[in-house]
Amino acid sequence: TVAVVLFTSDLRVHDHPPLRAALESGGEVVPLFVRDPAVDRAGFAAPNRLAFLADCLVDLHASLRGLGGRLVLRTGETVAEVCRVVRETDAAEVHVAAGYTAFARSRETRLRRALEAQRCRLRTHEAVTTVVPPGAITPQGADHFSVFTPYFRRWSDEPPRRPWPAPRALRVPAGLRSQDVPSRSEVSGVSAGLATGGEGQARAALRSWLSRHVGSYEERHDDLAGDVTSRLSAHLHFGTLSAGEVVFRARGHRGAGASAFVRQVCWRDFHQQVLAARPESSVRDYRPRGDRWRRGPEAEEDLLAWREGRTGYPVVDAAMRQLAHEGWMHNRGRLITASFLAKTLYVDWREGARHFLSLLVDGDVANNQLNWQWVAGTGTDSRPNRVLNPVLQGRRYDPDGAYVRRWVPELAGLHGPAVHEPWRLAGLERAAYDYPDPLIGLSDGLARFRSARQAG
Ligand code: FAD
Repeated sequence: TVAVVLFTSDLRVHDHPPLRAALESGGEVVPLFVRDPAVDRAGFAAPNRLAFLADCLVDLHASLRGLGGRLVLRTGETVAEVCRVVRETDAAEVHVAAGYTAFARSRETRLRRALEAQRCRLRTHEAVTTVVPPGAITPQGADHFSVFTPYFRRWSDEPPRRPWPAPRALRVPAGLRSQDVPSRSEVSGVSAGLATGGEGQARAALRSWLSRHVGSYEERHDDLAGDVTSRLSAHLHFGTLSAGEVVFRARGHRGAGASAFVRQVCWRDFHQQVLAARPESSVRDYRPRGDRWRRGPEAEEDLLAWREGRTGYPVVDAAMRQLAHEGWMHNRGRLITASFLAKTLYVDWREGARHFLSLLVDGDVANNQLNWQWVAGTGTDSRPNRVLNPVLQGRRYDPDGAYVRRWVPELAGLHGPAVHEPWRLAGLERAAYDYPDPLIGLSDGLARFRSARQAG
C-alpha cells in the first residue's frame, strides 16, 4: 500500500503525526509538498518567507534522503496535485495535519471530497503547530478566550506529550516525478541579514538557546541590544519545530526564565484560538473603538517615513531598519513601532500590519494581525488607550543606546542614552548629524489620539 503525507506548515521529520501515522500503515510513503499559487495569493508570498521556505525544503529533502526516501515537490492547486499523485501511486490514504485557518479548512474540505471520489481516504492529524489546538479549551459559554491570563491558566493545565522522534527509515515509490527543490538564491528582494531556515538549524538553535539563554530570559527578554530572545518564531511558523516540542524541552529547564518563555509561547496559541473563532479579525477590528484613522497625503508621508525608518525617533527608526535588514524585529521593537504608528501617528493599524507582513520571516496572520490589534487598542488588550513613549521606551530597554547605534549609523557618534534624543543637541552639533527632526511632538500625538478616541 501507498500513503501520501502532505506537508504544509510542518516542514520537519521529528514529532510529525501525519508522517508517523503513514509509516504505521507499513507500506510506501510519498512525502509531498505542493507549491500552491493560491497560498501565495493569500498573502504568503513575501520574498523573505519564500527564501526561508526554500531553505526548509532543502533541509527536509536532505533529512528524507537520509532516511532512504526523498521529498516529492509539485507546483499547482493543492487539491488537484494531491489527487494526481494519488492516481499515479494508487495511494489508499492521504495524511495531513489539521489546519485552523479559514484557508486551510476550506482546502481540507475540498480535498476530502475530491479524494472520496477517488476512493482514497483523507486522514487529518493533530497539527502540533500550536501546543493546544484552537478551540480545544474554551471558557464557559463562549467559543474562545478573549483574555490572556485565564487562557494561560487553562492552557498550562493541559497534559504535556513527549515529542516523537524522527522515523528511522522510509520507502518512497520509485519513478515518481518531482520538481527540483528550490534554492533561496532564486528569490529576489530578500533581506540581506535573513536567517537560515530548515529543521537542522531549528533544532540546533533550540538546543543552544535553551542551554545558554533560557535562564536569563525573564530579566533580559526586553533588552533590545542584548538580543537574547530565542529567535525561534520563524521556525515555529514553518513548523521546522513543533510547538509542543519547544514547550516540552523548555519545561525540562526549571526556573523563572523557562516559565516566562513558556508563557510567551502561549501567546501564540492564544492569538491562534482568537483567529480560529473570529477569522474576520484578520482585517476587522476585534473591538471597534470608533476610530477615524488619518488618511490623505500627510498621513501617507508619515507612513512612508515610518516604513523607511526616518521618523526622527531613534528607537523607532532602529527597529524599522532592523526589520528591513533581517526580516525580523525584536518584540520590544514591534511594540514600540506599532504603538508609534497606530497611536502617535494615528495611522490605521492595517497599514502597519501589511508592511510587517511584507517583510517578517515569521509573518503570520494570527500573530501579526492580532498583535497589531492588541497594540492599536482594537484587540484584546485590557488597556486599549495606553500609548508607548518611544523616548522612555528607548531609555528603558536600550539604556546605553547600543541598539540605536547599531541600526542608525548616522547617530553612531552619540554616546550613551543621549542617542535617544538627538534634538536636544545644541544648534551646530545637531546640524552635524544627518538625521531628521521628529515627525511630530509626542504630546501633540498623544492629544490627537486621546481626542480621537474620546470622540469615537
Ligand atoms: P521569544 O521571546 O523567544 O518568544 C518565544 C516564542 O513565543 C516566539 O518565537 C513566538 O512564537 C512566541 N511569542 C512571543 N511573543 C509573542 C506574542 N506577543 N504573540 C504571539 N507569539 C509570541 N510573532 C510571530 O510569530 N509572527 C508575527 O507575524 C508577529 N507579528 C507581531 C506584530 C506585532 C505588532 C507585535 C507586537 C508582535 C508580533 N509577534 C509576531 C510576536 C513577537 O514579537 C514575536 O513572536 C517575537 O518577537 C519573535 O521573537 P523570538 O522568537 O525571539 O521570541
